[in-house]
Amino acid sequence: MELVRRPYTHLLLPHAALDDPQRALFQVALRPAGWVTDPAENSTMALRWTRGHAALRLQTLGWFPLLVTVGPIGKPSPVHRDAAARLTAAVLAGGGRSFSDKQLVEYLPQAQLRWQRALLERQRLSTAERMLQARRCSYCGAWSDPPATHCAGCRRRFTAADDAEREATVDRATATIDEAETTLAELARGVVLERLGGGSGG
Ligand SMILES: [Zn+2]
Repeated sequence: MELVRRPYTHLLLPHAALDDPQRALFQVALRPAGWVTDPAENSTMALRWTRGHAALRLQTLGWFPLLVTVGPIGKPSPVHRDAAARLTAAVLAGGGRSFSDKQLVEYLPQAQLRWQRALLERQRLSTAERMLQARRCSYCGAWSDPPATHCAGCRRRFTAADDAEREATVDRATATIDEAETTLAELARGVVLERLGGGSGG
């Protein structure tokens, strides 16, 4: 049925974002075919290459996992198709997969939800990390260094009850950090939202 080959290739990689290792994967796939990185493209969400008069652009469409689309700038040609095939092979070898247009349309709303979930998990993570970096006085609410024996705010000496509460807080924060880091890793790997652990509390 399809007489015109679609010029865009959608690829999903089991990683959070377009970071250095993913950029390197694409470079290594294209360099042997003579594609050169275009230094004018300095977006954190895109990459661009040129080969003679041909130009190719890779654009991020989603994070957690990374979803990109690759296509020609200008008229599609066999060198573009060859580049797309090279990138697809590299992504498949790296544990990723390719996406059809139809799958992409179905997936994009989910990508949005996944990104929101990732932001929430990052927030939980940084809140829990703050709890480990300082101890809070239950009396005046001031923050002190964890090893402090006296509150930096009201100068009273921390009691055994304070220490027990502090210990419980540290345990909760450590568990939250563990959960949030696991969830972020699972989001990046592509574990479906329904199968992720609950993100409440913390
Ligand atoms: Zn105090």
